Amino acid sequence: MIDIHGLQKSFGDHMVLKDIHMHINKGAVVALLGPSGSGKSTLLRCINLLTIPDKGSIRVGSHEMHYSGDATRLPGDRALARFRANTGMVFQHFNLFPHMTVLQNVMEGPLTVLRLPKAQARERAQALLAKVGLQDKVDQRPEQLSGGQKQRVAIARALAMQPQVMLFDEVTSALDPELVGEVLGVIRELALDGMTMVLVTHEMAFAREVADQVVFMRDGVVLESGPAKEVIDNPQHSATQQFFARYH
Ligand code: ATP
Ligand code: MG
Repeated sequence: MIDIHGLQKSFGDHMVLKDIHMHINKGAVVALLGPSGSGKSTLLRCINLLTIPDKGSIRVGSHEMHYSGDATRLPGDRALARFRANTGMVFQHFNLFPHMTVLQNVMEGPLTVLRLPKAQARERAQALLAKVGLQDKVDQRPEQLSGGQKQRVAIARALAMQPQVMLFDEVTSALDPELVGEVLGVIRELALDGMTMVLVTHEMAFAREVADQVVFMRDGVVLESGPAKEVIDNPQHSATQQFFARYH
């Protein structure tokens, strides 16, 4: 489902991603772990093309992008939009549209990007809001919701684009502890549905339970990867051992 080859990204003279290779099967759940500054968010943003890589290639489903390092040969806006619609991304801070209701937030992408008829967009949004347990909040505004509810709206909004892949960047890190479980519950359900997902998280017990694969990054490289329980319970690299020691 996702193939990444020789991915590089620098900000100025700081190389943040150094020759990343990754293969993710359809339906796999990958936990992307590593210390602060290791490049996890940058990698997710490259998969979603919020950040344009310098070099390498990324394939998501049947959509593939190659980067040569030549800024004059970047993909056009339409190619970017098509590629981006393939991946849904959810962030630590929910980034909901504050002036819209919950229902309108979830309808907005299907209406404006996918050009779905209004009735169909509404039906899809209502079904997804029911799926995340917010059917009774459709007419509220984001400011009336708890953090956990806002994050569930953000997940429904991303799903409304019917992406092939979902990317989660520390989606529970800004939540009060008692609200973390309801958001993880939604992600767990998506995993059971067979959604392909990459998640950056500090919830190590959750990663161990739900992820098939762990990819551990440090300083812009993949230091260690493998089956989640093996990497978390029995890390091989000393940096990985140190990292997980904090959680054991
Ligand atoms: P954290 O766990 O703290 O979220 P991370 O693994 O997600 O860290 P990134 O956010 O990918 O790390 O950042 C990797 C490095 O790239 C950091 O040194 C960061 O300062 C740098 N960086 C990220 N985005 C930019 C940017 N837009 N401009 C300049 N430097 C950036
Ligand atoms: Mg990050």
